[in-house]
Amino acid sequence: MTTLNCRAELRLLKLFDYLHLIVDRLESFDATIERGDGTLAFTYSFGSARFIMQPETLVMEASAHDEHGLRRIKELLSVAIELYAKSENPQVTWEGDLADDTTLPSFRLMRVDNAWQVTPGMRRVRLLGDNLDRFETASSMHIRMLFPTAAVPEPVWPIAGRNGLALWPSEERKPVTRVYTIRNIDAAAGYMDIDFVVHGDAADGHEGVGCAWAMHAAEGDVVGIMGPLGRPVRAAEWYIMGCDETGLPALSRILERLPSHARGFAFVEVADAACEQRIAHPDGIDLRWIHRDGVAGGEHEGLVQAIRAVAWPEDVSSFGWFASESDASRQVREYWRTTLAYGRDKTLAAGYWKRGAAGLMAN
Ligand SMILES: Cc1cc2nc3c(=O)[nH]c(=O)nc-3n(C[C@H](O)[C@H](O)[C@H](O)COP(=O)(O)OP(=O)(O)OC[C@H]3O[C@@H](n4cnc5c(N)ncnc54)[C@H](O)[C@@H]3O)c2cc1C
Repeated sequence: MTTLNCRAELRLLKLFDYLHLIVDRLESFDATIERGDGTLAFTYSFGSARFIMQPETLVMEASAHDEHGLRRIKELLSVAIELYAKSENPQVTWEGDLADDTTLPSFRLMRVDNAWQVTPGMRRVRLLGDNLDRFETASSMHIRMLFPTAAVPEPVWPIAGRNGLALWPSEERKPVTRVYTIRNIDAAAGYMDIDFVVHGDAADGHEGVGCAWAMHAAEGDVVGIMGPLGRPVRAAEWYIMGCDETGLPALSRILERLPSHARGFAFVEVADAACEQRIAHPDGIDLRWIHRDGVAGGEHEGLVQAIRAVAWPEDVSSFGWFASESDASRQVREYWRTTLAYGRDKTLAAGYWKRGAAGLMAN
C-alpha cells in the first residue's frame, strides 16, 4: 500500500505553554495518542501525525494512505497551530507529498434542491453536494456559508494554501461569508438542510446577505460551504440549554441525539406561538417556549431570566449550553462562569448574532 508523507518545521519559543491545548484539540477528533521521549504520535482512522519537539522547534510529520486523508491531517494540524500558537505568528509550510496541492478539504460547492417555510420565521433550504461524509458529525455541526451577491454574482471560491488552509485567490471576487448550522444531513443521499431565520426585510436594510439569499434561493442556485466547525456538547446527566431562533437548529440536533435518560431544561425564544417547532427530545428534558410577542429579536429579557432562575443539581454531572444574540449570551456566560463559577468543561455560551452588526463570527 502506498503512503503519502509530508512535514513542516516551525520555530515556536513558547510551545510548552499551549501544547496541552493543541493536544486536547487533536485528540478530540477521535485520535489515539502515544507519548514518547520528546515525541507525540496521533493515529486517526484516516491517517497519522507525529510531533517531534526539539528546543524552540516543532517538527510535524503527517502520513496517510490517500490524498483525502493527508489533506485532512494537514488541515487538522495547521488549524490547531494557528489557533493556539497565534501569539508566535506561526507560518506553517508543508513540504513533501501534496505540497503544491490546492484542493481545500473543508470546501464543497453545493446546489439548491428546494426551499420551503418551516414556520413563518424559518426558511429551510435543501442543498445537494458530493462527498459530504466529513460534515456528518454531531460533534461539529456548523458550517461557514459562502454566498454569491448582486455585486459578486460569480465568486472565486477558496483554495488551499501551502499551510493546507483556505486562501482566497481574489479579494474583489470573494464571496460573503456567514455561519449556519446543518439542521439535517444525509451524506449517502448527498444532501443537507440549513434553517435560515427570516429577520428584517430589504426595506428596513436589516435583511442581511444570508437571509436574503435564503428567501430567494431557487433550484440550481450554487453556494459554497466550508467546515464543519464547532466543538461537541459534553456528555452529562443533566442539561440546561437556551437559545433564540438562530440556535434552534443546533439545539434541535443536540436534543434529538441525547440519550433517553437525559434530564434538564431547554428554553427557546421565538417571535410567537406560530414559530414553535416540533422537536424530538428525551421525556426528562422540560422544553419550554418563550414568545417575544412583538418585542424585537435581541431585546426580550425572558430567555436570560429563565436560564438564571434554574438551580443546577449538585449530585449529577451537568452541562449548560446557550446560543443567542451576543449580549444575551454574554450575560449568561458571566452568570455561569462568574456567579456560579462553572468552567468551560461545564458551559458553552456563544453569541450567534449581534444587534446592529453584520456577520458575527463569519470570519
Ligand atoms: C455557530 C453559529 C451557528 C449559527 N447557526 C444559524 C442557523 O442555523 N440559522 C440562522 O438563521 N442563523 C444562524 N447563526 C446566526 C447567523 O450567522 C447570523 O444571524 C447572521 O448574522 C445572519 O447573516 P445575515 O447575512 O442574514 O445578516 P447580517 O448581514 O449578518 O446582519 C444584517 C442585520 O441583521 C441583524 N441580524 C442578524 N441576524 C439576526 C437575527 N437572527 N435576528 C434579528 N436580526 C438579525 C444584524 O444585527 C444586522 O443589523 C449562527 C451563528 C453561529 C455563530
